[in-house]
Amino acid sequence: MHPHLKYLIELQAVDLRLIEIRERVSRFPKRLAELEARVASARQQITTAKEALTGSLKDRKTFEMDVEQWKERAKKYRGQSSEVKSNEAYKALLHEIANAEDEAAKAEDRLLDRMMAGEDYERQVKAAEAAVKDVEAVANTERRAIQAEYNAAQKELTAAEAARAAAVAAVPEDLVDHYERIAKRHGGIALAEIRGEGCGQCGVHIRPHVIQLLQRDGNEEFFHCETCTRILYYANHSVTQSPESAAASALGTPATPTHES
Ligand SMILES: [Zn+2]
Repeated sequence: MHPHLKYLIELQAVDLRLIEIRERVSRFPKRLAELEARVASARQQITTAKEALTGSLKDRKTFEMDVEQWKERAKKYRGQSSEVKSNEAYKALLHEIANAEDEAAKAEDRLLDRMMAGEDYERQVKAAEAAVKDVEAVANTERRAIQAEYNAAQKELTAAEAARAAAVAAVPEDLVDHYERIAKRHGGIALAEIRGEGCGQCGVHIRPHVIQLLQRDGNEEFFHCETCTRILYYANHSVTQSPESAAASALGTPATPTHES
């Protein structure tokens, strides 16, 4: 194996860890926003119920006044009945009285309806207030949990960044550049383990000759997958298996050979 390859394998392992951690970290704002949206929506229910209650109280005042006015009017007409001269006029007045009483009754129905609705809205306000308390209690617990997870992820991130710096330091700069160029094109994965007779990443078949060379202990050449261009390595050999390199070998995917660089 090329002497630098094992550091690249470690670099790959730490890079994959970084990708995973950064992805996790990037989800926190959305998770928090979802949580706050839930609380806001519960609070909005209170506002909505209170507005409905206020509206029904206003309606109540209006309908109370309607009832008063129609009753007043009926009373006024009745008071006029003794002064009416003609039969026609008397009939017309009776009609007005009946109409006013009818309107007063209708207004009373509307008033009753609003009073019942008002009780309903009061219940809704109380229910919404209770619901907000529950939602907030749950949200507080979740917020603390998310915060703790976030802190832990930040720690992991710092540790992984330090591990990366150490791995990078062990490899010549131009090789790191080469590695990073490939990684950039391939979702952060620049290395491909040989799996069976194929590239562990793209699955393409690798020429037996290349595999043979990669298996050779004294080999100091780099080979690339001809299809995905990733740097090939053969895991089951003289590499001391650090946890990182073990993790790196766990990543491999399929396919075929490439070429030396
Ligand atoms: Zn490949």
